[in-house]
Amino acid sequence: MMTNKEIIVGLEVHCQLNTKSKLFCGCSTDYRSDNPNTHVCPVCLGLPGAMPVLNKKAIEYTIRVAKALNCTVIKESEFSRKNYFYPDLDKAYQITQYDKPLAEKGELEIESDEGREKRVSITRVHVEEDPGRLVHMGNPERGRYSLVDYNRAGIPLIEIVTDPDMRSPKEARKFLNKLRATLEYLGVFDSEKEGSLRVDANISIKGSERVEVKNITSYKGVEKALTFEVTRQKNLLRRGLKVDRETRHFVEARGITQSARSKEQEHDYRYFPEPDLRPLHVQSWVDAIPLPELPDARRSRFMTQYACSINHARTLTGELRIANFYEKVVAPDPANLNSIAATWVADILIGELNYRNMSVDSIDAKSFTELLQLLKKGIITDKNGVELLRIMLDQQLNKQPCETPQAIVTRLNLAKTASDSNALSKIIYDVISENPKAVEDYKNGKNGALNFLVGQAMKKTRGRSDPGELNRMIVEKLKNREE
Ligand code: ZN
Ligand code: MN
Repeated sequence: MMTNKEIIVGLEVHCQLNTKSKLFCGCSTDYRSDNPNTHVCPVCLGLPGAMPVLNKKAIEYTIRVAKALNCTVIKESEFSRKNYFYPDLDKAYQITQYDKPLAEKGELEIESDEGREKRVSITRVHVEEDPGRLVHMGNPERGRYSLVDYNRAGIPLIEIVTDPDMRSPKEARKFLNKLRATLEYLGVFDSEKEGSLRVDANISIKGSERVEVKNITSYKGVEKALTFEVTRQKNLLRRGLKVDRETRHFVEARGITQSARSKEQEHDYRYFPEPDLRPLHVQSWVDAIPLPELPDARRSRFMTQYACSINHARTLTGELRIANFYEKVVAPDPANLNSIAATWVADILIGELNYRNMSVDSIDAKSFTELLQLLKKGIITDKNGVELLRIMLDQQLNKQPCETPQAIVTRLNLAKTASDSNALSKIIYDVISENPKAVEDYKNGKNGALNFLVGQAMKKTRGRSDPGELNRMIVEKLKNREE
C-alpha cells in the first residue's frame, strides 16, 4: 500500500481581496450583480496610453495577510508584466509580481492527517490583477461562442504559493479551510462571493513527475481533483507506466482531471518589470498594520472562556461567521448556554445549513437562543428541537414569514408531554394492549421487544416524549401487571 509519505502536494491559491475599488483604477469591485462591462474604464479596459495607479488598500491588505502568515515583507518588491494573449486579458499582459514578490517565507499551522499540529511553509505572497471573465455560450448544433466581461478585470488578487508540504488531498483541503478562515478573520476576503477563490494544485507521487491541476474553483473541488490524481497516478505506476509531467484541468461536473494540450500551456511569458509602476518600498508599513484575533487565538479563547472541547472549538472558530454567530447566541447567558450552544451549532446547525446551502448569516441568533432555551428548560425533546430548527431554516429559505420558536411549538403542539399526565399513561396502556405479542416476547426476555414498544409509544406521542422516560414507564407498567 502507498503510504501518505509518498504523496506530495503544493498549492497556488488566488484570492480576490475585498477592496472597494480595483487594483489600478477607481472602478468598483462590486461587479457581480451588475450588467457585464459596466465597471470599466480606460485603465482596466487596457486602452492605449492609460496609466495604472496602485490601490494603497490592496497593498495594506496583502501586508496584513503576509503578517498573519508569518512572512517577511521584502525591502523592495516590484510589479512585472506577464505577457500572453487571451480574450479575457485585454492588454495582452497581466500586471503581477515575478522575481520580487511582496512577501516570502512564511507558514500556516494546520491539523495533520494524524491529528497533530503541522506547519505548511508559505513560499511567497504576491499581488496581481484579475483578468476578465469569459462566459461560454451556445451549443454544438447552432454554434458555440464566448462572451467576455471586463467587470472582473483589475480586481486585486493575492496569490499565495506553498511549499510542497501537504501529504494528502485531505491535508490540502484543511490547509485551504485554515487559509480561508485566516483571510476572513483579517477582513480582506469574502469566501461566499462566487469565484473569489481559485486554486492550482501540484501533485506528485515520490520519485515521479509532477502534475499541475489548474483553475479549481471550489474548496471541495481541490480535494476531489487531488483524490482523482492520486488514484490515476498510482494506477499508472502500478501498471509499470510513468506519469507525464503535464498540466491538467479539473472537470468539476465529472470529478475528473483532463490533460490540457501541453503546447497551449507552455507559454513564454516574457516577464519584464512594469515600466508604469515604481518599485514598492513598504517594509516600514508592517509594524503599523495591526492584526485582529486570528483563528488559533480564538479557538484557545473558546476553550477557556466557554469550556468548549477542542473539536467544538475548532469547528466553531473554523469560519468567522460561525464563530461570530456562536458568540451572539450565548451572549444573553453564557454560563448556561455555552455547552448546549456548542453542541447545537457545531454538531447540528452547520450540517442543516450545508444541506440547504444556506449561510449562517440568514438565521437570527436571537431565535436560535430561544430554541436552545426551550431545550434547556425541558420544554421540547432533542428530536423535536431538530424538527423545530428545520422548520425555522425552511421558513427563512423559502422567504416565508418567520415564526418564533415558541409560536411553532404551540402551533404544531411540539411541547413535551408531561410524564405524569394521564395522556401518557393512556398511550402506554394502549401500546401494551395493542401489542400482546411484543409484551409476551418481553416477558420471555427478548430485549428487542422493549425497544419496539418504546418505538410504538414514541410514534403515538409524535416525538414529544423522551425515549428514556417512556422506556422506564413501560417497564414499570409491565412489572405492575405481572404482580
Ligand atoms: Zn477601471
Ligand atoms: Mn497568478
